[in-house]
Amino acid sequence: MSVDLPARLSAALAAATSDRIVFDLTGIEGRYAQLLRELPQTAVRFALKACPVDEVLSCLAEQGAGFDAASPAEIAQALRTGVPADRIHYGNTVKSDADIAEAHRLGIRTFATDSVQDVAAIAAHAPGARVFCRLATSGEGALWGLSRKFGCTRDDAVRVLAAAAAAGLTPAGLSVHVGSQQLTADAWRQACDALGDTIAALDERGIRLDHVNLGGGLPALGYLDRQGRPLDPPLDKMFAVIRDGMEQLRHISPAPLDFVVEPGRHLVADHGAVRAHVYRLTTREQPGGDRAHWLYLSCGKFNGLYELDQLRYRLVFPGHRSGDSVPAVIAGPTCDSDDAYGAGPGTRVPAAVASGDPVWILSAGAYATSYTTLGFNGFRPLPYSCTRDGHTGPVRTVEGTR
Ligand SMILES: *Cc1c(COP(=O)(O)O)cnc(C)c1O
Repeated sequence: MSVDLPARLSAALAAATSDRIVFDLTGIEGRYAQLLRELPQTAVRFALKACPVDEVLSCLAEQGAGFDAASPAEIAQALRTGVPADRIHYGNTVKSDADIAEAHRLGIRTFATDSVQDVAAIAAHAPGARVFCRLATSGEGALWGLSRKFGCTRDDAVRVLAAAAAAGLTPAGLSVHVGSQQLTADAWRQACDALGDTIAALDERGIRLDHVNLGGGLPALGYLDRQGRPLDPPLDKMFAVIRDGMEQLRHISPAPLDFVVEPGRHLVADHGAVRAHVYRLTTREQPGGDRAHWLYLSCGKFNGLYELDQLRYRLVFPGHRSGDSVPAVIAGPTCDSDDAYGAGPGTRVPAAVASGDPVWILSAGAYATSYTTLGFNGFRPLPYSCTRDGHTGPVRTVEGTR
């Protein structure tokens, strides 16, 4: 499965005369609707760190999404969309006393946790709150594993939720995150098995939950690996495994269960693209004596493409669709050698590209505006614009969580 560049996104990219990231709100709405068709009756809480852009958040809020927020500043940004506070949860297990108190003041009543120490702090600063305990996962099969730092074993989850009940909190659910850009359906099967085991162990202690949060990790479809090959995640199979898992958990649970998912990149990655430009195509003798082409672009790891650490993006050179091409190593504009597009063989690029020519970087809508430096080497964060139904709005600076 992969994605085509929709005409409305290419039209907005073609109309851009300077660098920016363009978000296709129509595409994001379509992806959201598709997710609800695949996982009906599941509440979607968009992990807003993947795209803290007000227009994108409002677009999702209008479709009925809520938000997974990781700090008081993210909660405040989610509230700016106008969603009620009960559609936002505090999904970060790592928080200070002051963060918990501020979230509670902002109206947040649902918190993720994974330790008795954090439970005691929630009981003190958000009395009566609902908590869900995060289970550890292996992170295997994902580009970014998210293991070790978060999550409990089954036995610790029982201790944590028992402590929550004893402290006057409501033990409301369990959560998992199978790792970001997960590429195997099996990761969700293993997560559901662990959830089922834990629900059964909790039942023995008289603790009954009403929610399971299956977290994020659903993949973008348009990425390439570090060698430049399409990643091609088995999305249909993932959804089938998740539906089976939900069925299995409903069966195990002594009480009715509702499900939550917290996608980040899946909803936005393929519906954002960067309009960057060519700095220069060069040829230099390499240490082994071969000559190699290097293509330098205006956008790289430090101004929007941080995830180049694990992947590559598809590139389009508009106006150069035919003609001679050469294999080139591609790199961003800064004085840092990590600012490069992948390892392995070069990418074929048009031999005739000239300084200033536009280049489009596809499937760059997730984590681009949030993982950017403030201007490393003087390369400013990309501004953005949003397009919907053929109408493109003004170019804006990302304010994020202000
Ligand atoms: C980052 C994050 C997500 C979103 O992850 P994706 O891989 O972008 O879907 C969801 N839940 C939590 C708790 C997160 O930290």
